[in-house]
Amino acid sequence: MMTIEDLKALVRDVPDFPQKGILFKDITTMLKDKEGLRLAAQLLCERYADKGITKVVGIESRGFIMGPIVAEKVGAGFVPMRKPGKLPANTVSESYTKEYGVDTIEVHVDAIDENDVVLLHDDLLATGGTMYAAYLLAKRFNPKKIYISFIAELEFLKGRELFPADVEIDALIKY
Ligand code: AMP
Repeated sequence: MMTIEDLKALVRDVPDFPQKGILFKDITTMLKDKEGLRLAAQLLCERYADKGITKVVGIESRGFIMGPIVAEKVGAGFVPMRKPGKLPANTVSESYTKEYGVDTIEVHVDAIDENDVVLLHDDLLATGGTMYAAYLLAKRFNPKKIYISFIAELEFLKGRELFPADVEIDALIKY
């Protein structure tokens, strides 16, 4: 039986990507392993199975991988939050500063509503800028509740501290 430690061992460290000084946590080595993919999916789904989630919101791009798997398993819909200019219909947006640059994310204006229980998902929590923007964007829709989930978290960057204490934030793997 595979453990969380085995899962962690499947994530590859890539030094100096996408720029010098960043130690990139590459989840593709975990995804290509059938047991790794299965365990990651199972653990993410178990955690949210009984929370009444109605929309899983995946953050571009790596939030689009496990996001739909979790959505389907917990009986929710899937919503993409994307880089500017990618979504075809009317959007709302938020800007943010991340570990290596400034960026903007967008979501369709009709993607979330106030009856939703939202799970925001991305592969990794670094400084938290990306997810904080996603959180602010989701909050504008005034949903019943917002949960936040990651595959991995770089705890030493303290990204969690950006969020209000009552927001439940979870990561399968911690560094
Ligand atoms: P942040 O806004 O700093 O929390 O950055 C999170 C976003 O950037 C996520 O979408 C990650 O995929 C990506 N990211 C930032 N730092 C890393 C890293 N060291 N390894 C892998 N992905 C990263």
